[in-house]
Amino acid sequence: KIIIKSEKLCKSFSNGGIQQHVLKNLDMQIYEGDFTVIMGPSGAGKSTLLYALSGMDRPTLGTIEFSGERISEKNQDQLALFRRKHCGFVFQQIYLVDGMSIMDNILAAGLLVNKNKQQVLKQAKEMLKSVGLNEQIWHKFPTQLSGGEAQRAALIRAMINQPDIVFADEPTGQLNSQSSDMVLNTLTQMNEAGQTIVMVTHDLKSARRANRILYLQDGLIQGEYHLGKYQGSD
Ligand code: ADP
Ligand code: ADP
Repeated sequence: KIIIKSEKLCKSFSNGGIQQHVLKNLDMQIYEGDFTVIMGPSGAGKSTLLYALSGMDRPTLGTIEFSGERISEKNQDQLALFRRKHCGFVFQQIYLVDGMSIMDNILAAGLLVNKNKQQVLKQAKEMLKSVGLNEQIWHKFPTQLSGGEAQRAALIRAMINQPDIVFADEPTGQLNSQSSDMVLNTLTQMNEAGQTIVMVTHDLKSARRANRILYLQDGLIQGEYHLGKYQGSD
């Protein structure tokens, strides 16, 4: 089942008066339940595509449908509401508030949508435990965690409201190999539990976790590869 569909998607930027056409009439679909990876050379427009598909940025031309609803015609306020309701995000830079404990970071995100604090707390505890983040880190601050732990906590924060889809932009880009593996294991685990994921990466090892790889070059999807289920260990 298609969750996101783009048609004739164009995105251009004006850099110093010169029009740069980054996405050029791009047609693509994202399927529910997939772990899709977008690869391609640096500067190909991978992040630009992710931002358009997730309603973080509006396309220059073309349409994007999310579960049949045209998000490309929404204004910024409507897009903000749409994202809060349907999307979770993680980035290369780990977005956790430094002055708040890990648990408070997650509760703050959860309480934006569900006002029942006991329910959100219970959910947060279960999710943290399921990815191996145990009680001793719940009251630590983000800077007291390893990079891999902090990024996994950021993933839980992104998923606390049970989004329809999670967008990850180079989520292991700042991590050492061991921490990267922990974060990738968490993403794989979430996907196996049914979470739809779209991840941008230039790292082949990360891309192997996907079941579908899209190769972006010269403003278009130039290749599509299907992978079997990830069997662990590289
Ligand atoms: P990738 O993620 O594949 O490395 P990006 O999507 O970040 O590529 O960028 C693709 C191109 O679009 C780059 O040449 C970049 O300079 C340009 N670009 C991206 N965002 C902006 C922006 N907000 N303003 C101007 N140019 C941008
Ligand atoms: P990585 O190399 O993956 O970033 P670290 O060596 O930074 O990992 O962290 C390893 C362990 O040490 C983690 O369990 C983390 O919680 C703990 N840790 C790191 N820094 C601190 C700190 N400042 N205070 C308390 N615990 C810490």
